[in-house]
Amino acid sequence: MQRIAIDMDDVLADATGRFLDYLTTRTGVEVTKQQLWGRDWADVTDIHRSTIRSWVYEAGFFRDMAVLPDAQDVVQKLQERYEVFIVSAAMEFPLSLKEKLEWMAEHFPFVDWRYIVFCGHKYMIKADYLIDDHEKNLKPFEGTPILFSAPHNANLTGYTRVSTWREVEQLLLPNAVEIVRT
Ligand SMILES: [Mg+2]
Repeated sequence: MQRIAIDMDDVLADATGRFLDYLTTRTGVEVTKQQLWGRDWADVTDIHRSTIRSWVYEAGFFRDMAVLPDAQDVVQKLQERYEVFIVSAAMEFPLSLKEKLEWMAEHFPFVDWRYIVFCGHKYMIKADYLIDDHEKNLKPFEGTPILFSAPHNANLTGYTRVSTWREVEQLLLPNAVEIVRT
């Protein structure tokens, strides 16, 4: 059985959306994901990057993120054909460990804790596929990297790109889609 490693922030969880919500509630500045697409924070707001960055160290930041559309359905389908691991570089934000585990238990109860890996570097992860939004994780990966679209990677080329979980389904479960069609 082939193995898939799946990132959390901006792949399963709407981390960018969480930053935008904090931006609005903390500063009153409203920015949409579309406005941020392919741009830096400095291009869309005067709020300093270090201020925005500081929010990830606050308790609760990782706990109440929205699930990206269709992620639950497609991950559950992938589990039938692949060994699925959730792999998150959570060590950078110690408060996130408990929150991310609770988030997974709430939104992905079908992913056993034995299949959740909180780590630092991801280059030691051995899998056939890695679905991630950051080139720093995809570039050293020894299997097949799959780039999940996010505002900060909009201009990145050279990777197989997916923009939705339905695209992940079409890419990794093509026969399943075929069965649905017939
Ligand atoms: Mg990520």
